[in-house]
Amino acid sequence: MRDAVIAHSRPHYTPPVPTIGVLALQGDVREHLTALTGLGARAIAVRRPAELDACDGLVLPGGESTTMWRLARIFDLLDPLRERVREGMPAFGTCAGMILLADRVLDAVAGQETVGGLDVTVRRNAFGRQVDSFETELKVTGLPDPVPAVFIRAPWVEEAGPEVEVLATAMDHPVAVRQGPLLATSFHPEVDGDGRIHRLFLDVVAGG
Ligand code: GLN
Repeated sequence: MRDAVIAHSRPHYTPPVPTIGVLALQGDVREHLTALTGLGARAIAVRRPAELDACDGLVLPGGESTTMWRLARIFDLLDPLRERVREGMPAFGTCAGMILLADRVLDAVAGQETVGGLDVTVRRNAFGRQVDSFETELKVTGLPDPVPAVFIRAPWVEEAGPEVEVLATAMDHPVAVRQGPLLATSFHPEVDGDGRIHRLFLDVVAGG
């Protein structure tokens, strides 16, 4: 018995499993939960401040930014979200989630607020009616091969501050950006099952 204990106490390192929240007010929450769980993260839906407290990182999903903003106000989540992002919590916004992370929004509805933190100006529904929704492959900095990219009434980045690294562009505008622990894409990596962009975010959460 004693031998068995010694045999199992050899020094080894198991990386901690991070808890990643997915803001679950509206949008494609389930797709993000599936993508994160598939990569070995513990993924939880976040609707309350106490759930946010439990997270090492947060995903803000695609959906409708105006609805998420209104619900975040109603659920008393907007200020706690702003505080966690200000404190340096890693966050990853896709599409509407990118809009929520942006400091400035063009073509916003009257009074539309964001969580902010990302020093960018985004334009909502930027790609216009002709290419309202489309799918392509994009080269993303840090990934050797192009990734599938699904755009659905997507925003693009119109201006980015000096701290913002552009990871990918489409139609001459940034569509994937990183600023320290904040990552955002105009497209929806949660819908294609690829997993590489979520892996990139988990690396950010792990301190990469
Ligand atoms: N157009 C939406 C918005 O402004 C975003 C679209 C999406 O997330 N697919 O919130």
